Amino acid sequence: MTQHQASCSCGQLRIAVHGGEPARISVCHCLACKKRTGSAFSVQARWPDDQVTVEGRSSHYVRIAESGNPADFHFCPECGATVFFRTVNLPGMTAIPLGTLDDPFALTPTISIFEERKNAWVEIVGDDVEHLG
Ligand SMILES: [Zn+2]
Ligand SMILES: [Zn+2]
Repeated sequence: MTQHQASCSCGQLRIAVHGGEPARISVCHCLACKKRTGSAFSVQARWPDDQVTVEGRSSHYVRIAESGNPADFHFCPECGATVFFRTVNLPGMTAIPLGTLDDPFALTPTISIFEERKNAWVEIVGDDVEHLG
């Protein structure tokens, strides 16, 4: 059963999630995530690789995170939107940016990381949110 679907801005690159709620839903305030998204932070949910199916063409870019870990970003070659990525610190998991989901309101972050880089006007709220430096 397909739980979630996500796509790029033009719609040719799609990813579907089959079964299971995400293992992790994180906000990251690091400088590399600001640069990638063009926004103040990134927010993404992760599922095991075998629970996702990708459709369409993607290009990819390997970025070294502020932590020193490489991350492999897959984006649409037409419109440039990143639809999924994988990081070595969470092997076997596919991360999907929440904003690409067909229902971008469906999921709520459970952890907020790199808060030392958090913009002063940003506040990640929720009783269950774990906050890490
Ligand atoms: Zn596209
Ligand atoms: Zn980051």
